[in-house]
Amino acid sequence: MLEKLKEEVYKANMDLVKHGLVIFTWGNVSGIDREKGLVVIKPSGVDYDVMKPEDMVVVDLQGNVVEGNLKPSSDTPTHLAIYRAWPEVGGVVHTHSTFATGWSQAGLDIPNIGTTHADYFHEAIPCTADMTEEEVKGAYELETGNVIIKRFEGMNPMHTPGVLVKNHGPFAWGKDPHDAVHNAVVMEQVAKMASIAFAANPNLTMNPLLVEKHFNRKHGPNAYYGQ
Ligand code: 13P
Repeated sequence: MLEKLKEEVYKANMDLVKHGLVIFTWGNVSGIDREKGLVVIKPSGVDYDVMKPEDMVVVDLQGNVVEGNLKPSSDTPTHLAIYRAWPEVGGVVHTHSTFATGWSQAGLDIPNIGTTHADYFHEAIPCTADMTEEEVKGAYELETGNVIIKRFEGMNPMHTPGVLVKNHGPFAWGKDPHDAVHNAVVMEQVAKMASIAFAANPNLTMNPLLVEKHFNRKHGPNAYYGQ
């Protein structure tokens, strides 16, 4: 079942290792088949060097396991909340990549202060609010999804395809698992660049016109970047 999507999700998980975003079992990627309403996700706590495409777990949008011998990622309810809320999303990634997690732990949005950021993320990459005691003690992973969705009220999640979960780490998404990993890699790089830039000059600024120019030349109605 969903063999092609399993291959894609497996490869996307392995790409997290290739790009240096995960160590040990820290991270997960999923992908969705919107027609079937089924999600393929990494199994929980399995080492990347022994993981195989057939280990990927198929779940429905309510989290019931439809196929697979292993337990799905512990973060599955967060991924599913994102898929239920935002129909354009085709892939979701979570990592504990160093710089993005550093900003999550600092509890700060990453301001849009460079064209690298503006090429991929229209606005600041937002950091979520503190989770309440009820949220942490309750359906924690589902509530993590809910705080992400709440933080994006009034924002277009496809124009700013990533978030920092406070004191936890980054989630990113995209039109498919590969695109979601691409955005997670860029987010880590942008977080690293912002750390260096703010350390060098805490009072730095960027002209908002430059943000619009770079975002729109790739994603606007008259986009002209690429072939
Ligand atoms: P899983 O192995 O359950 O996906 O957990 C990895 C992780 O990063 C938890 O936040």
